[in-house]
Amino acid sequence: MPTRTPPVAAWTPAFVVDAVATAFERATELGFLRAMAEAARKHGVSAATIEEWVARARAVQTAPVPPGLLACHHCAKPMILVQLPESPQVYLCMPACGRLPVQAAAIGDAVAKTMLNRAPHLVPPGKTHAAAAYAPGAIRRIEVGATAGDLHITWRSDLPTARWAANVHRPAN
Ligand SMILES: [Zn+2]
Repeated sequence: MPTRTPPVAAWTPAFVVDAVATAFERATELGFLRAMAEAARKHGVSAATIEEWVARARAVQTAPVPPGLLACHHCAKPMILVQLPESPQVYLCMPACGRLPVQAAAIGDAVAKTMLNRAPHLVPPGKTHAAAAYAPGAIRRIEVGATAGDLHITWRSDLPTARWAANVHRPAN
């Protein structure tokens, strides 16, 4: 009897984003738990696997770039973080448009560098290693071109001033 479970080789980044997209699409209607169960059934993977992929896609603390900022320059869809076993993290648009995945660490580095160049006052002292985490304060949207070096950034028109940042980041006494 042939098994209905697809081989592990089917877990490409494109497969993952499409499975996660199914869960996101139905989440409003069904709630996340049922939407994930449905995505698991539809894509032939375990519910635990889908839950892990969705959790990573929504993760705030561990993402190289805060969720919700990245979009694909080719298809304009949001990009999400994908992690497969034995592979580095990548970003890919959801659903996949056929473009190549981009290394997540490289995008994180590029966004951090941009923040430190353009809006260093929004990065608290001692946090330069995590500068990308502060991008939502200055950046509305980042469209990712072919590589991590090809970022199309939409800055906030109401970029907070250095004076504002100095007050917010003033050490508590
Ligand atoms: Zn795309």
